[in-house]
Amino acid sequence: MVNCMAEKSLSKAYEPRESEAKWYRYWLERDFFRAEDSSPKAPFSIVIPPPNVTGMLHMGHALNNTLQDVMTRYRRMQGYNALWMPGTDHAGIATQNVVEQELAKEGITRHDLGREKFIERVWEWKEKYGGVIINQLKRLGCSCDWSRECFTMDKRLSRAVREVFVRLYNDGLIYQGDYIVNWCPRCHTAISDLEVEYVEKEGFLWHLRYPYGEGGGEIVVATTRPETMLGDTAVAVNPEDGRYKDKIGSKVILPLVNRIIPIIADNHVSMEFGSGAVKVTPSSDPNDFAIAERHQLEIVKIMDGSALINENGGVYQGQDRYECRENIIRDLEKGGYLAGREAYVHNVGQCYRCKTDIEPMISRQWFVKIKPLAKVATAAVVKGKTKIVPVMWESTYFEWMNNIRDWCISRQIWWGHRIPVWYCGTCGKEIVSTIDPDACPDCSGTTLKQEEDVLDTWFSSALWPFSTLGWPDNTEELKTFYPTSLLITGFDILFFWVARMMMMGLYVMKEVPFRDVYLHALVRDEMGEKMSKSKGNIIDPLEMIDKFGADAFRFTLAALTAQGRDIRMSEERVAGNKHFVNKIWNATRFSLMNLEDYSPSGVHIEKSDESLPDRWIKHRLNITVAEVISSLDEYRFNDAASSIYQFIWHEFCDWYLELLKPTLYGKGEPAKRRAAQHTLLSVMKSSLKLLHPFMPFVTEEIWETLVGDGSSIMVSEFPSPDDTCQDLVAEKQMGIIMDVITSIRNIRGEMNIAPSKKLRVVISPPDEASGSIIGIGDGYIRNLANLDALTISSDGKEPKNAATGVAGSMRVYVLLEGAVDIAGEKARLEKEMAKVSKDLMTISKKLANRDFMAKASTIVIEREEEKFREVKGKHVVLETALKRLQGMG
Ligand SMILES: [Zn+2]
Ligand SMILES: [Zn+2]
Repeated sequence: MVNCMAEKSLSKAYEPRESEAKWYRYWLERDFFRAEDSSPKAPFSIVIPPPNVTGMLHMGHALNNTLQDVMTRYRRMQGYNALWMPGTDHAGIATQNVVEQELAKEGITRHDLGREKFIERVWEWKEKYGGVIINQLKRLGCSCDWSRECFTMDKRLSRAVREVFVRLYNDGLIYQGDYIVNWCPRCHTAISDLEVEYVEKEGFLWHLRYPYGEGGGEIVVATTRPETMLGDTAVAVNPEDGRYKDKIGSKVILPLVNRIIPIIADNHVSMEFGSGAVKVTPSSDPNDFAIAERHQLEIVKIMDGSALINENGGVYQGQDRYECRENIIRDLEKGGYLAGREAYVHNVGQCYRCKTDIEPMISRQWFVKIKPLAKVATAAVVKGKTKIVPVMWESTYFEWMNNIRDWCISRQIWWGHRIPVWYCGTCGKEIVSTIDPDACPDCSGTTLKQEEDVLDTWFSSALWPFSTLGWPDNTEELKTFYPTSLLITGFDILFFWVARMMMMGLYVMKEVPFRDVYLHALVRDEMGEKMSKSKGNIIDPLEMIDKFGADAFRFTLAALTAQGRDIRMSEERVAGNKHFVNKIWNATRFSLMNLEDYSPSGVHIEKSDESLPDRWIKHRLNITVAEVISSLDEYRFNDAASSIYQFIWHEFCDWYLELLKPTLYGKGEPAKRRAAQHTLLSVMKSSLKLLHPFMPFVTEEIWETLVGDGSSIMVSEFPSPDDTCQDLVAEKQMGIIMDVITSIRNIRGEMNIAPSKKLRVVISPPDEASGSIIGIGDGYIRNLANLDALTISSDGKEPKNAATGVAGSMRVYVLLEGAVDIAGEKARLEKEMAKVSKDLMTISKKLANRDFMAKASTIVIEREEEKFREVKGKHVVLETALKRLQGMG
C-alpha cells in the first residue's frame, strides 16, 4: 500500500500556545498572506480599520479583526487574489498626549522642546511602541499582507494627504473661517463634534435680571453658565411670545458690564424654556453663534485658549471660568440681579481624550465644504453602489448626510499632517502646494511661513482605501484592488470614518471605496453592559487567547455576531468553545486510529459499498457547505458558525462516528469498510476546511497529520456544494432511525435504566414502507440503543408492561419486564416528584410575589423564570414516567 496512513497520530491533547506560534511562522515563511498586485484570479480586498499606534488590543479590535480574517481566509480559499491591507493610524491627539505624558515625567513640556524636537520624540516613541498592536493582531491569527503594512504618516500616504488637500482647495471646497468650535482648554485644540463626549452633571439654572434701558422693570433670563454673560450681545425672545411683543427692538443694560444690548426676536427661541427670554452669547454657544449670524450681532470673545477670562472680562480678567462663575454669582446677588436658582441636570461636553469640559469658542479654522461631497456619497448608497449591512444603518447614514455641517479639519496640535499652506512674509500671499515651496510665486519673496495647524486625524483615514494602494500614482495594486470589496467596522465610526471615506473616495477616485460595508455591534459583557474599567467587567482578549487558545476565542466572537444584535461576551462561552476544539481533536484521534490501514491514493469506491450513514453524512455535509457559503456571503457570521458547530458536533461526532464503529472495527465486508474509511476521511477534510476561517490554527495542526502531504489547509480549496451528494432517501431513512434511537434512549434515561443494560424493543410502524426502514436500520438501532431484541409488530397492539415512545408516526415500546424493578422505580420517581413539586411551589410563590418582582433586577427575574422553566420541565418528565408505570407490576 502506498502512502498508507499508519503511524499517524495526534498528541493526546491540543496545545494551542505551541501550535499557534508554529503555524503563524509557517504561514509567514511561505508568504501565504501575500496578495498579487495583478493576477488572473478575481480580486478580493479589504482594508483594516487602522488601529491607533497607541492602541492595545481590546475586545472591539478582536471582534473586528476576527471577522475580517474569517472573510479574507474564506475568499482566499475560494480562489480569490485576497488582499487584507494592514496598517496603523497616527492618531493625532491621542499619540501627542501619550508623549506629552512621558515628557511630564521628565518635568518638561512640548513647548520646552519645540515643534521639531517634539515631533522627533513622537517618532521615536512610535518606533519603539507603535508595533505592539500589530503583534497582538498576529496572535489573533490575522492573515494580513504584512509586506504592505502602512502608517498614515508614511511618506507615501502623506503625499496623498497633500494632494487631496490641494485639489479640494483648488476646487473651492476648502476654506478658512471664523467659526465656533469645540475647544479643549487642556489640549489647546479644536475637536470635532463627534469627539465630544457628553456627561450628565448636576448644576443650577440661574435666573438673572437684566434691567430695561428705559421705563424701569427688567427681563429675566435663565442660564446654566452665568459667567458667559460677560459676552452677551443680545437677549432673544420668540416673535410669537405675547409677553415680550412690545419689547422687541428695545434695549437692556447688561449687569456688571453695563453694556447696552438689544432685545431681538428669533423663531428658534423656545417659549417654554425658563421665562421665554434667553441671553445670547455668540462667542460661547453654538446656537447663540447661529442667532448672531442671522441677526448680525456683535461677537465679544471673553476667554483665551486656556479658558481664562480675557481683557473683555473687566475685573474678572485672568480668572478661570469656574472661579469666575462663583464671583459673578456673588456680584450679581450683591447688585440685586439674581432672581433665583433651581437645581438642574444638564449635559456637559467633554474632550474625549482628557475629559476636560469643552469650551465652545470662536476661532479661525480650516473647513471642508462638505455638502457637495455628501450629496454624491448619499447618491452612491441610494443607487446601491455601496451596500450597508445590516440595512438598518442606511437610514442613519442618510439622515446624517442630509444634516451634515462643514467639517472643521484643522487641529492646533503638532503631531499630524501639517496643513500644506504657506504665507509669504513679503506680500502676504497664501500659497497652497503639494511640495514645500522655496519662493513666493507672486513676489519671489523667500520668507515663507507654513501654517501651524495640522489636519484632523480623520482626514488621512478618509483616504485610507486608496492612499494605501499607492494613490496618487496609478499603481497596479490600485487598479486591481480599488474599489475594495468589503469594509468591516464598528457602527460607532460610521460618521467619523465610513461616511468620510465614501465622500473622499468618490471625490478623488470617482468611484466608491468599497462595495459592501458590514457594521458590527459593540462587544458587551454577558449581562449586556458596556465593558468599562470602572465597572471592572473588561475581558482582555490576550488573556482569553492565553487561557483557551485563539481558535476558541475567535469562534466565540464569530458565533456571537448576529446582525443588529448586541454581542454578549463571557469567559464561559470561550471555555465552551474550547470544548468544541477538544471534541474535534478527539474525533480526529479516533479517526486516525481507524484509518491506519487506509491508503487514500488511487482508491476507488463503488457506490453500492457505501452504507446508509455514509450517504447520509455526505448529504448533510453538502447541506452544511451550502449553508456556510450563503451565510458568509451575506455576513451572517453567527449562522455560519452555528451550521459548522451543529454539523461537526451533533451530526458528525454524535451520530456518524457512532454509527460507523461496527464497520470500522472490521465487523463487515472489507469493501464496505474501505468505503466508510473513504467517507470518513473526506468528510473530515471538508469539515476542517469549513472551519478553517474561524479556527485557523487547530485546523492546520490537524491537517498536517490527517492529510500529511505537506500541503496547507490555508491555501486549500474551500468546499463547494456538490449535487451528486444530495440524497433525500438517506436523509429520510436516517431521520427515522435516529428518531427511534433517540426515543429509546429517552425512555432509558427517564426510567433510570443503566446504559449497559440490554433492552427489548417492539416497534409498531404505521405502514410497510416505514417498517422496511426499520429493517434497514436494524443493526444501527440495536447497536446505538443497546438492544438484544428488536421486533416489528404489525398488529398495532400495545405490549404488556412497556414504556411507550413516539418516533415520527411510529410507536416504540420498550419492554420493562426484567429491565426495571417496577416497584422500586415507582418509589424512586414518587420521591423525586415530591421534591420537584416543592421546588416548583417555592419558585412560583417568588414569581407571584409583587414585592420581590418590584425590587429584583431584570437579570434576577430572568434567572428565576429560567429556573422555573427548568423545574417545570423536570416535573413533566417525571409525570410521564410515573404514568408509564401505572398499572404495571
Ligand atoms: Zn483635551
Ligand atoms: Zn509674496
